[in-house]
Amino acid sequence: RNDSIANKVVIITGASSGLGEATARRLAGRGARLVLAARREDRLKKLADDLQSGGADVLVKSTDVTDRKQVEALVQAAKDKFGRVDVLINNAGLMPLAPLDALKVDEWDKMVDVNIKGVMYGIAAVLPIMREQHSGHVINLSSVAGHKLFPGAAVYCATKYAVRALSEGLRMEAGDEIRSTNISPGAVATELTSTITDPDAKASAEELYKVAIDADAVARAIEYAIEQPADVDINEIILRPTAQE
Ligand code: NDP
Repeated sequence: RNDSIANKVVIITGASSGLGEATARRLAGRGARLVLAARREDRLKKLADDLQSGGADVLVKSTDVTDRKQVEALVQAAKDKFGRVDVLINNAGLMPLAPLDALKVDEWDKMVDVNIKGVMYGIAAVLPIMREQHSGHVINLSSVAGHKLFPGAAVYCATKYAVRALSEGLRMEAGDEIRSTNISPGAVATELTSTITDPDAKASAEELYKVAIDADAVARAIEYAIEQPADVDINEIILRPTAQE
């Protein structure tokens, strides 16, 4: 069993910015072997170059997590290159907040596709491999919005509640060989609010994000979950800015 981070094969979705990028940087510093996934391959390559020049072993795989076949190909590429998959971090997500009355149904679809289905496709792709290895760790990015509702955020909250259900369901079914961790951050300074198209929702998010903390705070929480001995499963970490309600 693997008890530390060095040499672990870690797949990170949404690694082209924000929490995913910060996590890649932190885990590279701990000697993890990284597989970076997102749609913007140019950004992944720049990050990979940076990490490789520091001595890290990195694979870049352009992936749209809403496409089940691409997620399968991502996990297969990780296995082909490194021979195993120790950790999957289902981090890709978007947050186009708007009140239900704005009827941004296309954005609801996108949130369901990326935030929920992307996570499910990731779990489906790694589960058989982790069963075969008799070890593995799935880390899902939920949110404080997966614990409480915010007006104007019903669909986003629904997706993050769903992520929590998937994390806990996996934990209950996984047995003693696979770990499941749910990470629920509050406001963190990333590009997440850039997906908001509703002007009022954007203004209130900008207000809340005035107290946002650095993405490395979440990377440290993820690092903590991974570095535990294999018989310790950190089920959930909730973290938020001290100044957030
Ligand atoms: P960013 O917008 O900075 O990063 C989002 C990442 O998701 C990008 O790398 C983006 O890459 C990727 N992504 C989006 N759509 C897809 C897709 N279809 N396929 C593959 N990758 C995709 O936001 P954060 O870093 O903040 O968000 C990361 C996660 O953390 C999200 O799940 C978010 O909900 C969650 N979270 C964030 C909080 C915050 O305050 N920042 C608080 C609580 C939770 P690309 O566009 O290149 O595909």
